[in-house]
Amino acid sequence: MITEKSRKLFEEAKTVLPGGVSSPVRAIKPYPFYTKSADGSKITDVDGNTYIDYVMGYGPLLLGHKHPAIREAVTRQFSNGWLYGTPTELEVSLAKKIISLYASIEMVRFVSTGTEATMGALRAARGFTGKNKFIKIEGGFHGAHEAALVKAGSGATTLGTPDSKGVPADFTKHTLQVPYNNIEAMTQAIEAYRDDVAAVIIEPVLGNIGPILPEKGYLEDVRKVTEENDVVLIFDEVITGFRLAMGGAQEYFGVTPDMTTLGKILGGGFHIGVIGGKREIMENISPAGAVYQAGTFNGSPVSMSAGLAVIETLRKEKVHGKLETAGDSMRSAISDVVADLGLNYNMSGLSSMFKVFFGDLPHNYEEALKCDKEKFNVFFNKMLKDGIFLPPSQYETNFLSLAHSQDDIDKTVEAYHRNLK
Ligand SMILES: *Cc1c(COP(=O)(O)O)cnc(C)c1O
Repeated sequence: MITEKSRKLFEEAKTVLPGGVSSPVRAIKPYPFYTKSADGSKITDVDGNTYIDYVMGYGPLLLGHKHPAIREAVTRQFSNGWLYGTPTELEVSLAKKIISLYASIEMVRFVSTGTEATMGALRAARGFTGKNKFIKIEGGFHGAHEAALVKAGSGATTLGTPDSKGVPADFTKHTLQVPYNNIEAMTQAIEAYRDDVAAVIIEPVLGNIGPILPEKGYLEDVRKVTEENDVVLIFDEVITGFRLAMGGAQEYFGVTPDMTTLGKILGGGFHIGVIGGKREIMENISPAGAVYQAGTFNGSPVSMSAGLAVIETLRKEKVHGKLETAGDSMRSAISDVVADLGLNYNMSGLSSMFKVFFGDLPHNYEEALKCDKEKFNVFFNKMLKDGIFLPPSQYETNFLSLAHSQDDIDKTVEAYHRNLK
């Protein structure tokens, strides 16, 4: 495989972009491939190599690259203009759709990214309760904003900087951390700061250090302890929303939080974020209330059009059932490969999410950190040379999409066999 153009581009990039990239996890060693185009399940680099893609834009592309329904919707919108700075009918339609699908959502504020969504949700929860602290899960990732950058998953953990420099300790002193799947630790944290915990924010399935699944009863227990203590429960469904079910993890597991953040999949590849929740909380957001939130690109007509098309396509193509079946069969085929080779590695995941942990199956962040990262990195590069693009970290979830064919899956399972061996 020749990747000479990519190598040269990265040399150039390092002189003008910190680390040569625009977002840390893209800085694959020794250099990333530079993409020329993508279609369906495939991504093609500037040297003409094509890869089966399981990164899928790090989550948004549940329908695959360049899905015709999304393309049509945004093209139609382009002919009417792409930014107005006024309200549109599109945002009202999309809000109503989301509210009808998410049990926890009675009102929404549209923003541009998942980062803004969690930042706004936490601010609203603090404004609503008049309390300062919030509890997050170790290894949980909620975007790259100050209060959330403590023991954060995703690129932060991959690069060994889960606690960012440049964040004054004063800014994170209200951020409490507890391990996932440990209700005692969460209960103790809530009790220790009984009068000052505004919110718990949690990825229902840890997607940025995993996937790591909730143990039976855990999410129900989290719901119970937050409810009993008047703590706002925020499900960060930026990965799981529209993925596990139309109504996200809250529908899949049958646990309803007070607030929900959405992003990624809903935009179909365009930028979007959603702060959603109970009316009494949401009405604290400006201009209805005094919790300030604003954005030039909030409710972007292009993203709203894409969002409406995503929801319609998910339903029309029965995407969740298909991905549940395809995911199960792929996970079991790769698990068989691992077992045949006598490796003590473990497959994790559900629906369209999967990952082989190079070690014991983790239940939380500490356990995940014990996996053999060095071996994973060797494996990642072998897979890439075989034309399979996996997320370049033990701690990023692999994503299956509607566009992956049985042929893609067969080739991938074979490559797992060859390269794990
Ligand atoms: C990706 C992600 C975010 C941040 O979303 P951006 O659009 O990258 O700002 C927040 N929460 C979770 C769970 C995510 O996976």
